[in-house]
Amino acid sequence: MSKTISLVDLKAQYSTIQNEMNEAIQKVLNDAAFIQGEYVKKFEAEFASFCGQKRDGAASELYCASCANGTDAIFLAMKAIGIKSGDEVLVPSHTFIGSAEGVTLAGAKPIFVEIEEKTYLIDPSKIEEKITPKTKAIIAVHLYGQPCQMDLIRVVAEKYQLFVVEDAAQAHGAYWKNERTGALADIATFSFFPGKNLGAYGDAGALVSRNKELIDRARLFANHGRVEKYEHLFEGINSRLDSLQAAILSVKLKYLDSWTEKRNQIASQYINLLQNENLILPFVQPNAISAWHLFVCRSEKRDEIIKAMKREGISCGVHYPIPLHMQPAYRHFGYKPEDFPITKKISSEIISLPLFPELETSAVLRIADVLRATLRKGVAYFTC
Ligand SMILES: *Cc1c(COP(=O)(O)O)cnc(C)c1O
Repeated sequence: MSKTISLVDLKAQYSTIQNEMNEAIQKVLNDAAFIQGEYVKKFEAEFASFCGQKRDGAASELYCASCANGTDAIFLAMKAIGIKSGDEVLVPSHTFIGSAEGVTLAGAKPIFVEIEEKTYLIDPSKIEEKITPKTKAIIAVHLYGQPCQMDLIRVVAEKYQLFVVEDAAQAHGAYWKNERTGALADIATFSFFPGKNLGAYGDAGALVSRNKELIDRARLFANHGRVEKYEHLFEGINSRLDSLQAAILSVKLKYLDSWTEKRNQIASQYINLLQNENLILPFVQPNAISAWHLFVCRSEKRDEIIKAMKREGISCGVHYPIPLHMQPAYRHFGYKPEDFPITKKISSEIISLPLFPELETSAVLRIADVLRATLRKGVAYFTC
């Protein structure tokens, strides 16, 4: 029996940084520093500087406020830009529900926008038709690691005076032209859920922006609207980053660029191995450098492929099988499946192949073999 291959392998990652990580965790325990404090400040500064790195070597000055998770980050971004009850916020129809939950939590209504068939990202040409006098913001979700077409989105946003929020939960360190996610709009949100490209050992999240005022407002809201220990400017929530998670993220951040490079190499291997098959491979826009959170292909034989992979001990994923407009949670909006035909079609055809920095070339070859054999309707066999 050949080795099983998981979609992500967090144990493999831990084993590469075990000593350094254990020391960092021990230090926090020795200091008994648990909520916010110096570890959190340090990570916020490091992450702001990471997001501010330009491709040409220059740097943008960015600010970062950490919080408890990526969904809270979206909610906090809504509060920071002043979203209120009755407002509408545009969200792609194809994303994780967290992208929309933060909007509803802020009292506003998420309005879905169709995606592009090629990139699976929000279609800039379909934004304008969804804008009403109530529209206040657009959430650009950099899905699977690839940044949205920010120039086109900005043009629409400027015309209608809308805020643009990046949901960069899957795209830490990805570039659009010369700049990284976090520097591409009014404010950006990140998740450090363990399986994300930069993952904590529990839930964690952050907001990043060039605008210090927006970040200060989000930070205040995430900590009870507190200015002094017992002085509160307004009611907020409790959505803070643990010191332990901050220390863990500081260790991992040092490796993130090399991990992203590995993801990139594995994606290239997949593309080389599968380019002549009857399979739609990921399309990366010329202006983008993807963070390759997921390697998502498309095939009408999707379910057959998943079964064949499973038989061989290979785990694949579907991100996401039910589009937002077809979710029971949004039944009350009254959408029909065919309201977003591209989203509906691709959600039945997409498959995410295993992709993580520690994935070995032999595993990539085996995955490609099984996939090829299934597409050719043949029987997969190998000697391992
Ligand atoms: C993971 C994710 C979120 C939510 O982040 P959590 O930390 O899990 O709350 C939001 N949007 C997208 C696109 C995500 O992938």
